[in-house]
Amino acid sequence: MNKYSTIQRKILVEYLEKHHDFALSAARIAEDLAGENISVSAVYRNLAALEEEGAVRRMAKSGERLAYYQYVGMEKCRNRIHLSCTSCGRSFHLDVKEADGLAEALLETEGFEINREETVLKGLCAECRAQG
Ligand SMILES: [Zn+2]
Ligand SMILES: [Zn+2]
Repeated sequence: MNKYSTIQRKILVEYLEKHHDFALSAARIAEDLAGENISVSAVYRNLAALEEEGAVRRMAKSGERLAYYQYVGMEKCRNRIHLSCTSCGRSFHLDVKEADGLAEALLETEGFEINREETVLKGLCAECRAQG
């Protein structure tokens, strides 16, 4: 990778880390980074590369075809199960205790071992549920 593409990637990763709690569309990310030293095509290219490396997860919201991206490559994401709201796109880490309980129960009843890092539970967050 040349120096310029390294810088572009760094800009994107820093932005994505800051927005870990929200899944964002590529268009929104490119728009937010419009004033930065990164081109729109580089945003798309790097998102695809990061997704391939497993650092970025692509998801959809209910009733939408648009792809949303979320960065999960941080230390704090390691070995955590993510909860993803399909209405507002917000993302949370499942409490470790809850995750342990879930993993244990599945292992016991199904003989199934969860890969936590790859697991996303989709549903509605408390706020979206309260809004009906
Ligand atoms: Zn995370
Ligand atoms: Zn929500």
